[in-house]
Amino acid sequence: MGRLIYLDNNATTQMAPEVLNAITEAQSVVYGNASSMHTFGREAQRLVEQARDNIASLLDCDSSEITFTSGASEANNTVFMIAKSLIEKRGSGRIVTTTIEHPSIMETVKYLRKCGIHVDQAPVAADGSVKLDEFEKLMGPDVVLVSVMTGNNETGTIQPIETISQIAHKYGAFMHTDATQAIGKLELSCRKWNLDYLSCSGHKFYGPKGVGVLYAKKGIPYEPFVHGGEQEHGRRAGTYNTIAIYGMGVAAKLAKENIDEESRRLWAMREKLREGIVAKVPNIVVNGCSDRQHCLPGTLDVSFENVEGESILLMLDMAGIAVSTGSACATGSLEPSYVLMAGGLDVELAHGSIRFSFGRFNTMEDVDYVLEVLPPIISRLRAISTR
Ligand SMILES: *Cc1c(COP(=O)(O)O)cnc(C)c1O
Repeated sequence: MGRLIYLDNNATTQMAPEVLNAITEAQSVVYGNASSMHTFGREAQRLVEQARDNIASLLDCDSSEITFTSGASEANNTVFMIAKSLIEKRGSGRIVTTTIEHPSIMETVKYLRKCGIHVDQAPVAADGSVKLDEFEKLMGPDVVLVSVMTGNNETGTIQPIETISQIAHKYGAFMHTDATQAIGKLELSCRKWNLDYLSCSGHKFYGPKGVGVLYAKKGIPYEPFVHGGEQEHGRRAGTYNTIAIYGMGVAAKLAKENIDEESRRLWAMREKLREGIVAKVPNIVVNGCSDRQHCLPGTLDVSFENVEGESILLMLDMAGIAVSTGSACATGSLEPSYVLMAGGLDVELAHGSIRFSFGRFNTMEDVDYVLEVLPPIISRLRAISTR
């Protein structure tokens, strides 16, 4: 087996060497409980607070508005449970979100509906962008929370969060965005976009797994999702995951330094791959967004007619190329991607979709290799296709 190419950076990323070095060094010396008052505890706390400052700087918010969680799934769950609690306290109210959110929101919506909470989901257009007129039709003074993701993990489509935030506030709702895929790839600003809540996760931007962030604007309603100790001023119980938090902070610092250059590089690789596939493989559809302003720069989602995505994935894997089909979490089941279906894609085409997602460690040579290997794989699969 020759080279291995990782093109599944939207599922998770490899840790940056800077992050790995920092946490390896810290791991052997910093082991105190960040809540302890002695020297060991204070040293751990210093790393946690350093990370908080780095994250706040990346998100353009105040450090006091950052709560550390176990990841974006927990942060998303926390926000929806805060909304549930507000609705129950008021005795009325609704949540408005979309049909293309991450499973950590889609499944929470199902759970809340079972609890009797009213949730509406705004539809998306073929390019994956939320239909703003339909979204605004769902709005009303009874809406408590609006939640729309910044950039989609499958199609890469970026939503106009600043505009959606203005609409949400016009109706008196709180605004949340799941920025997990966008962080480090485009400039985010909690202040400029006037956000009330934002979720993100360390492992999607070259930090460690199992650590994330919930930004909650100063003075906004808050309730802990994990009850227990007084960590995070009572906002999230559980002993600090000091080393992971510290590592995510280092990753945040790196992300802030590299956003423009890195986004340009990712977009160039994505476009070269798209152009190559369009030129070399007939009967394909490029899903989602199409221009740089509306796309996460490193994401390319393509449907191949008359082939199963799973078959392509396995053949590419044998050739040393790692990609994904549908959403990472839907893999293993034969359900077509709900994100692509929400954009109106035909079921057969949704079954034949592949997501290529580039990251910091990919190069143009990786694109060349994919363009060499992919077309014959598609031809072979189509030749044996029974569809
Ligand atoms: C990965 C991802 C999540 C979940 O993050 P975890 O930290 O793994 O829980 C949530 N939302 C989006 C958009 C994601 O891509």
